[in-house]
Amino acid sequence: MRKVIPTSIKDVIEIISTFPGYGEKASKRFILNLLKMPKGEAVDFIRKLALMIDRVNSCVECGMYTEDEVCHICKDETRDRKIICVIEESFDGFVVEQTGRFNGLYHVLGGRLSPLEGTSPEDLNISTILPRIDRLGVEEVLIATNPTVEGEATANYIHNLLKSKSVIVSRLAYGLPFGAVLENADDFTLSKAIEYKYRI
Ligand SMILES: [Zn+2]
Repeated sequence: MRKVIPTSIKDVIEIISTFPGYGEKASKRFILNLLKMPKGEAVDFIRKLALMIDRVNSCVECGMYTEDEVCHICKDETRDRKIICVIEESFDGFVVEQTGRFNGLYHVLGGRLSPLEGTSPEDLNISTILPRIDRLGVEEVLIATNPTVEGEATANYIHNLLKSKSVIVSRLAYGLPFGAVLENADDFTLSKAIEYKYRI
């Protein structure tokens, strides 16, 4: 068989292709962009990547990505320790933080239950939820997994798990995104928006 792709490129494609959500096409696009960068910039990018991998780890308390052992949110004494927000990934927490509307703590699952991707409860940061509720004296758990099939399955699993605890379990509200047009909304979103209508 003829060697078409240089081995060094093939090696990188093989690694990136194993990332969930990245096929060979996306991997090739990423590599193409990288190879088109001036060599100095590309090397600088790789240096920053190495620095990130070296410095970033999961907070030992909540699982949020941090450069410290315990993240700044868990360290913050002004945060309400009675409510924890369960999220799939750290980046979900970063966007919630940006709203400035949540002052509790987080619990990062590190993914979602997905039979297709072969993710089971043991693969996620789930077993630490109950001990954490006890230790912190948590009164409310806000489940903020994504409104997707996998996110819903994950939320249901955690909800069932929490039935053994006397905590309030809440979910982020469903509804139409601001600026949405009704006729373009899918059935599920519109049904949920009607179900969770609010008084004005
Ligand atoms: Zn933390």
